[in-house]
Amino acid sequence: MNSLVVDLIEEIKSQISVRDVLVEHGVEITSDMFRCIYPKHLDEHPSSSVYENDRRFYCHVCGRGGDVIDAYAILNGLHNSQAIDSDE
Ligand SMILES: [Zn+2]
Repeated sequence: MNSLVVDLIEEIKSQISVRDVLVEHGVEITSDMFRCIYPKHLDEHPSSSVYENDRRFYCHVCGRGGDVIDAYAILNGLHNSQAIDSDE
């Protein structure tokens, strides 16, 4: 990935919080906890939380998590978030 793209991604990550993306997609978030956003995990209770100043999220049941770009990808059904996360 070229450095301009990397800079842009870092810029996005610094400007937009996971919480913003969740709220924008209608996810209810109460005291840092919300229901897992991974489609394969039918979470009946809020098992996921945001941390690091809302910059990352983690599900305590299925162990999945990530940053704002991962959250955006999941909520929009883009499961190949690897494409933006790695050089592969
Ligand atoms: Zn989960």
